[in-house]
Amino acid sequence: MTYSYTQISHYLTCPRRYRHRYLDGWREKDTRAALLFGRAFEQALAAYFLRDDPAAVLFREWTACQKQGLRYSNGDTWDRMLQQGIQLLDRFCQDERIRVRQPRRNLQVKFTRSVSQNNEFVAYIDAIGRLDGTGCLLEWKTTASRYPEEPDGLLALDPQLVCYSWITGIAEVALVVFVRKRLVEVQYLRTTITKEQRQEFGQLVEDTIRRIESAQFLPHSGIRFPQNPCSSCPYIGLCLGRQELVEAALVRKPGAEDLGRLDELTY
Ligand code: SF4
Repeated sequence: MTYSYTQISHYLTCPRRYRHRYLDGWREKDTRAALLFGRAFEQALAAYFLRDDPAAVLFREWTACQKQGLRYSNGDTWDRMLQQGIQLLDRFCQDERIRVRQPRRNLQVKFTRSVSQNNEFVAYIDAIGRLDGTGCLLEWKTTASRYPEEPDGLLALDPQLVCYSWITGIAEVALVVFVRKRLVEVQYLRTTITKEQRQEFGQLVEDTIRRIESAQFLPHSGIRFPQNPCSSCPYIGLCLGRQELVEAALVRKPGAEDLGRLDELTY
């Protein structure tokens, strides 16, 4: 079985959610505009490092998504997102704070690590490069709101960065956040993940896989009113037995063996 960050994170959010997705094969419909825009934008970033035209690549990739019945949120439109994307690419190119040498080798870098006897963990790191001259692993994020920077040091607790530091063994990590708002912004956030954090994450992965393998899938969304994650969970139709909600949000794709690898390729 191949596990990924997304898979472990699903289980830790709510084990029932994990079961709906990975055992029963229910997947959220891929029509979320923000998700597809993020993928198109990553293609444009790759083009920038490969000395291609990033704006043209963004236009091409985003146009390919246009007819997929996209679901927009926060008053977004296709045109507005394209315009924000081009402004973000301009800002990023002008900043010149990120360097990626040998981009064919150092973009979307695959790492695997074996965990327990028959399992492996897979991750695709967006880039290995430099931020302001310091070598680090790099993750891109496109979002409609700024990544919080307070209190100081918060980024070191980001579970995905801790995971990627664990699988690569690289302590210096950075998040480049492309914020789509009225005045677009690119945040360059860097932190160091300690050896203890990496060890703890490894233990967390092993413990989570043990619980998955012993079929512990009791629902616990975890937090009570007013922050109940069930209200934004795509699987709520299954938990409530509401067929119309299931049909609106999910499709069924049975077969879970390699979903960890697929998660990494599509998120
Ligand atoms: S709706 Fe709530 S209980 Fe059901 S899978 Fe989602 S988070 Fe878990």
